Amino acid sequence: MTDASWTDATIEAALAEAHVPSLINALVHLTGDVSLIRGDERPASQLFGDPQGGISPEHQEAIRARALDALTAHRDAGFPDLPPPSPATVKEMVDFITGVELDDAYGEFLMSELKIFDEDPYRVSLDDLSEAARGNFHVLVIGAGMSGILAAIRLKEAGVGYTVVDKNAGVGGTWFENRYPGCRVDSPNHTYSYSFAPEDWPQHFSPQRVLLEYFERIATEHGIRDNIRLSTEVLEARYEDPGTWRVKVRGPNGDSTLTANAIISAVGQLNRPKLPEIEGRDSFAGPSFHTAQWQAQHDLKGKRIAVIGTGASAFQTVPEIAKVAAQVTVFQRTAPWVSLRPDYHAPISDAKHWLLNEVPFYGKWYRFFMFWTTGEGLLSMVRRDPGWDGNPGDSNGERSVSLANDQLRALLTANAERMIGDDPALFAKCIPNYPPAGKRMLIDNGHWFRALKRDNVELVTDPIDRINPDGVQTESGRQMDADVIIFGTGFHASRLLFPMKLFGKDGVELREHWGADPRAYLGIVMPGYPNLFCCYGPNTNIVVNGSIVFFSECEVRYIMACLKLLIGRDLAAMDCRREVHDAYNGKIDAGNLGMAWGSPDVRSWYKNERGRVTQNWPFTLLEFWNQTRAPNPEDFDFA
Ligand code: NAP
Repeated sequence: MTDASWTDATIEAALAEAHVPSLINALVHLTGDVSLIRGDERPASQLFGDPQGGISPEHQEAIRARALDALTAHRDAGFPDLPPPSPATVKEMVDFITGVELDDAYGEFLMSELKIFDEDPYRVSLDDLSEAARGNFHVLVIGAGMSGILAAIRLKEAGVGYTVVDKNAGVGGTWFENRYPGCRVDSPNHTYSYSFAPEDWPQHFSPQRVLLEYFERIATEHGIRDNIRLSTEVLEARYEDPGTWRVKVRGPNGDSTLTANAIISAVGQLNRPKLPEIEGRDSFAGPSFHTAQWQAQHDLKGKRIAVIGTGASAFQTVPEIAKVAAQVTVFQRTAPWVSLRPDYHAPISDAKHWLLNEVPFYGKWYRFFMFWTTGEGLLSMVRRDPGWDGNPGDSNGERSVSLANDQLRALLTANAERMIGDDPALFAKCIPNYPPAGKRMLIDNGHWFRALKRDNVELVTDPIDRINPDGVQTESGRQMDADVIIFGTGFHASRLLFPMKLFGKDGVELREHWGADPRAYLGIVMPGYPNLFCCYGPNTNIVVNGSIVFFSECEVRYIMACLKLLIGRDLAAMDCRREVHDAYNGKIDAGNLGMAWGSPDVRSWYKNERGRVTQNWPFTLLEFWNQTRAPNPEDFDFA
């Protein structure tokens, strides 16, 4: 877009599609008129339903007319710089757009998310340390996905030496690997992007190719590619002298050993596909593969396809496969909760692009609104109320964990009923018998339910007994012949860091030490493993609240501050103290038991085989942001 795009007609057309709460805040920037956010017309704190927050159509029209005047005046005045509002006014604007009066504790956090006063609040500057000391310190980053690219960018900016290795032949991690038809991001794209690299996304939830291109481009633009070794896998790492990790890697030219002062593991939680333990799995005569290891050479057109699983991956791919296959049989063990999102596949219109790119501060407020409504704002609906009877008089599992959760259940059930209520048998199969957010809620614009209603799709809930050369047989003895079997059966999530072997200062291998129970302090550091840092480590996954990019930005900020501590004080190593780690994990476990995903009846990849929630963060985004602002030296022993 250029200044030439600021015609009255373009502005007017764009305003017709504006998100009015974001527009009102943008108008405060443009006009300085705070009365705009002090009247009775305010967006309600509703997280589902009217995206305009219940602002009356008349008031919306009045705001659009006011915005047309303000924007044309801004243009006619030659696009002058706008004076920043005071922090107190920004706080009022935050309260206005979220529809709640937020605790003061949120102030600094949300201001930093808004980036009105600081363009790069997650950056840790090491500029005050000597260039030689920074350059002589070397960090190995394992993984070149979203977190690894981020870590490399921050290390480069800070002048710290680094090498990135990735087992794949390209960067992008999960977006490089997952190429199944229908794969797309299921967090709003305006929050699923680096805070320092906002993007003009083509869709609200863009497809895999767009995400991959974004990460590839960011890696190139930030000049980190020369430090990335692709097709190179870490086999094992040993902590030797204080501050020295010796790392055995296998690359295109064979095995070699790298030495690093610190390691950042950025391998993710979901990078090792899990095939189900079903009898006869390998006896199937046709092609069979996992969604994350898509075999595009098999044309599915006109074929009979069996899909096992109804998690996020199968959920996205079944509707696409159903368009070309002769028959799709979907084997569902547990139904997912489905949250309707009409814009899930919608392109962002020219008018919306214009608003996001041209109207000063509109894009920041829109991103912030997304951040809030898909993040912190949802937590209250999935937190357990200890006084709530979630199983009123029926024995079919826990229904809900609080009144708000029950209301969410009613809303999601009503949405499903609208889509498939005319097929009572299908409807019954699609309503989960566990509380919403017991597992990840899946986002849909109806394409899943529409796919299930197709003549060539059948949802089978009869449990699988075995796989045989011809297909899948259920426990009731029904044989479902198939030409191809697709496993949408998830990942070895609680086998975190698998299959690498990491030997700490006492020679103990980390995964052996963990067993199936990975734990870390802040999700980042483990006692006995000095200078080893994790991104997206134990208990840093989110179920409803927010984007995982936010977590990685917090983690990398913390890690960079740790490196600053080491380099700045000329220390070799920092090792998290055991009692700090244990106390923290006690808090995490209690927190997870208080959330819908901690429900004892629910099985999910969030829990290990003993039922402990190993993957999820149970508290607010504010708490994660606060706890990762900077290391407390008292949490560590130094060498
Ligand atoms: P998943 O959520 O773990 O789902 C696995 C599915 O396979 C479940 O329906 C599970 O049933 C079923 N299953 C597993 N073993 C089975 C067996 N032996 N017999 C029958 N069914 C079996 O895996 P996923 O779908 O790959 O998703 C994993 C995570 O990846 C998601 O939660 C999300 O965080 C992420 N993801 C994100 C996106 C996105 O952003 N667009 C897309 C895909 C995935 P049960 O539920 O009964 O265990």
